[in-house]
Amino acid sequence: MTVTGPVPAASLGAVDAHDHLFLRTPALPGDEFDDLERSTAEALEGRASGIGTIVDMTPIGLGRRPDLMRAVSKATGIPIIGATGYHRDAHYRAGHWVYDASVATLADRIVRDLEVGMHPADWDDPDAPPDAARAGAIKAGASYHHASEAERRRLEACAIGGRRCGVPILVHTEIGTFGHEIVDTLTAFGVAPHRIILAHLDRNPDAELHAEIASRGVYLEYDTMGRTKYRPDSELLDLIEHVVTAGHLDRLLLGQDIGRRSMLRAYGGGPGMRYLMETFVPRVRRRIGDGATDAILVANPARVFALEGPA
Ligand SMILES: [Zn+2]
Repeated sequence: MTVTGPVPAASLGAVDAHDHLFLRTPALPGDEFDDLERSTAEALEGRASGIGTIVDMTPIGLGRRPDLMRAVSKATGIPIIGATGYHRDAHYRAGHWVYDASVATLADRIVRDLEVGMHPADWDDPDAPPDAARAGAIKAGASYHHASEAERRRLEACAIGGRRCGVPILVHTEIGTFGHEIVDTLTAFGVAPHRIILAHLDRNPDAELHAEIASRGVYLEYDTMGRTKYRPDSELLDLIEHVVTAGHLDRLLLGQDIGRRSMLRAYGGGPGMRYLMETFVPRVRRRIGDGATDAILVANPARVFALEGPA
């Protein structure tokens, strides 16, 4: 399900499985981006680099803009999959409704985003009519080595939405921690492992741990390429090679997770949205070959982002 309507999963091409076109969060003051022209220019560079589809994982309350996502998609020709769901606590100011809402309300807002159309103002104005764009994935979040009580309730709401609407749930892990526990929590709420994606696991590049989690049937989404302040890309290449060698090629996804204005070329920063395909993927191809690389970029996302019936 893209922001301009349903498309065949086999037509997605190379998928940037976790990125952002518009974002605003109290956790990153001064690094918000919300300019249609600049985000369109950035997406055009991404398209020219070889990205076939962008999954915009901006959830409720973080500056998600369904109308502008539709505009970028129409201007660039790039299919964009939008998200609903909720991030971890750090991205919501004290007193935000996501802390106090019941699981039923949290889940209902997810389901409406998925079935009717994304709310244009994230329920800060509950009466605003829904946008035409439906969400096609759910974002959730946990904290460093734990999930707060409020994060647990939001995970439950995400599980309800995911089961009912047959979409995958991508969970933010903080520094790659708490992966097994997130899978335990979501599966206890009835989510099938193959509908769970753990993001940012590569912040903790522990190949043994990743192989263990992947063997549960869960997808691993890596997105720290170009984060040179944390580690060189060669370490991420080593990690991919190890996890593939351990037999888990069919569980890997790549995204760029550009979450700061300072990372976008159109806003005067870098490395920009072209980095994945232009700089990183050629090195992946040299490491593991074209067939395995295409599995990660094309076949795996086509499988995980395809809509399923209710679970
Ligand atoms: Zn993200």
